[in-house]
Amino acid sequence: MLPRSTLARAQKHLMAFNLSTRAQTRLIRTALLALVCFVAAFVWLNVRRNSGNDAPLPTPIASPSVYATPLASPPPAPAAQSSTPLNQPAPASSGNETSLLIPVAGVRPDQLQDTYTDARSEGRVHDAIDIPAARNTPVLACADGTIVKLFQSARGGTTIYQLDPDNKTVYYYAHLDHYADGLTENHFARRGEVIGYVGDTGNAGAGNYHLHFSISIVSDPKHFYDGTNIDPYPLLRRGNTP
Ligand SMILES: [Zn+2]
Repeated sequence: MLPRSTLARAQKHLMAFNLSTRAQTRLIRTALLALVCFVAAFVWLNVRRNSGNDAPLPTPIASPSVYATPLASPPPAPAAQSSTPLNQPAPASSGNETSLLIPVAGVRPDQLQDTYTDARSEGRVHDAIDIPAARNTPVLACADGTIVKLFQSARGGTTIYQLDPDNKTVYYYAHLDHYADGLTENHFARRGEVIGYVGDTGNAGAGNYHLHFSISIVSDPKHFYDGTNIDPYPLLRRGNTP
């Protein structure tokens, strides 16, 4: 049996303990509430800050990789371009440096006519495109490439053979009035460079000023004159390379 005084003391202790735990619980609850509020405010602020910075952040990371390889690889998708060139003057502002340029200054894609399958004398097929223009309109290199031959031919008149750096694609320009000043074989002509002028030489017919332009694929770049022709029309319309 414990003495009365000890019991009373124990009771007092218990009450004090009860009081202090209740106070503690209240304190913990308050602290927890404050913590929840703090976390909520922190998260809200972060979300707001991130959504504000969203747009500018990804772009600077993406663009350097786009600029890193423009010369090595051909443009990815022609789909986006097809709508734009139609309303633009072709040579000056066609934009894409690897696309095929219409080789006569000032001619728009919508002015082109597909004459590839037209019949020619002796059962031949045209296999080229004729682009009418005034006499001495500048003829432009449709792409980068080496001038492999300046040739006077009976049918083509004053002509140019240009070999693409792929060593397979040959661009042929015919019926020229004359060559650009100083143009020589082995010269590497840049896309858009003036290489000659529209004329009616060869079998064009007097006064029938136009550029006869063809594209062929050769198996041996030394035999630049002996390739398989492909239709330049859809390529020039879309501004694509072969
Ligand atoms: Zn022709």
